Amino acid sequence: MADTALMTIPGLVDPVPASRDITPRADGRVDLIGLPRPRIRELFEEAGLDAKAAKLRAKQVFHWLYHRGVTDFEAMTDIAKPMRPWLAERFVIGRPDVVEAQHSVDGTRKWLLRTADGHDFEMVFIPDETRGTLCVSSQVGCTLTCSFCATGTMRLVRNLTPGEIVGQVMLARDALGEWPKGSMISSNDDGADVIDEISDVDVIDEDDEAGHYTADGRLLTNIVMMGMGEPLYNFDHVRDALKLVMDGDGLALSKRRITLSTSGVIPMMERCGEEIGVNLAVSLHSVRKEVRDELVPLNKKYGIEDLLQACADYPGASNARRITFEYVMIKDKNDSDDDARELVRLLQAHNLPAKVNLIPFNPWPGAGYECSSPQRIRAFSEIIFASGFSAPVRTPRGRDIDAACGQLKTAAEKKSRAQRDREVAAAPLD
Ligand code: SAH
Ligand code: SF4
Repeated sequence: MADTALMTIPGLVDPVPASRDITPRADGRVDLIGLPRPRIRELFEEAGLDAKAAKLRAKQVFHWLYHRGVTDFEAMTDIAKPMRPWLAERFVIGRPDVVEAQHSVDGTRKWLLRTADGHDFEMVFIPDETRGTLCVSSQVGCTLTCSFCATGTMRLVRNLTPGEIVGQVMLARDALGEWPKGSMISSNDDGADVIDEISDVDVIDEDDEAGHYTADGRLLTNIVMMGMGEPLYNFDHVRDALKLVMDGDGLALSKRRITLSTSGVIPMMERCGEEIGVNLAVSLHSVRKEVRDELVPLNKKYGIEDLLQACADYPGASNARRITFEYVMIKDKNDSDDDARELVRLLQAHNLPAKVNLIPFNPWPGAGYECSSPQRIRAFSEIIFASGFSAPVRTPRGRDIDAACGQLKTAAEKKSRAQRDREVAAAPLD
């Protein structure tokens, strides 16, 4: 069981258990993944290093963990040999467990992952010609109950920790083989000084390529916080994880390549812009109160007008960094020409630097909705486009592996139920 403490989360369900930064392990060692440099330094001091050594080791270990992706202290070649088992006795470098990994015919990859305390969540990688996008989860389940979303049918189990969130990106880099090679000196840090300071430095691996690397040619280029859960109801952990992703000596991905999607948690939007500064996507899905109340029940708390105003006020939004409005196309629900015109009117009235992302509804067993026809989606898109907003239709990807939010977990649960039934049927009667 994870050590949990009650924390107040604004929202419909309140309070819920939220994990702390360190989840105790049975063997007493501490998993370093998810911890920032100062916290690692603190732990090293608590374990007995003096302040100067702790600072130096924390800087080195941070680099190996987040920039180079090593999972074994023995691979930390600038750390003295006797120090490495000392670290391994006290600390571990974890990754989420992979329960199931699937590869779609169209290149989409999906992983069902498991936390150390046994909760399943999902991660999806979607490559296309110009980029590779990793869709990351922020919670196991969701407190919100959007009627078109499979995750909305699950209750919130718990928030993911910063380690479990950044761990998804690290696992994807492992799977894609995308950790940088090269010397341990990264381009934007003062690593050279560090080496000078170390008296017991080992020789850096000879097969390491010298010099720096660039992000060019990478498969994983973008991150979207659009997996399971509402990231703004797990704000602190999402922020801490994304800071590690954006750190130049960490995963070093630009904030311009990261998008956070919210169903409209207005009170947290400003902090998101100020403290993380990533691109914002808002799950709008309807421009009419009755319909949005049904599709995104949070609308009853934070209505459309206030939401659009919060978007207009989002720190950092500009024509160069427009806000994305996600709009799931559902047959006879939100897809009329009048809906499209009202959407344009609202965006213009709020003077929003906006783009609209039209998402064909992805059906799941038990969903009471159907996807709009391709003709309807095209007509809807054309009305928006004619008013000067871009309105691309998202191509469904990975349908053969249930790649939409919440679906793999649901499929896996069904399978395990079926598996259980088979086992019961096969068991000898007594
Ligand atoms: N909770 C956040 C982020 C996770 S949901 C939010 O709601 O924005 C991310 C996106 O997945 C949302 O835009 C949602 O509309 C979309 N989505 C969920 N279920 C879907 C389905 N069945 N078909 C198409 N899109 C879906
Ligand atoms: Fe939660 Fe987003 Fe799904 Fe709504 S759409 S239930 S907010 S994950």
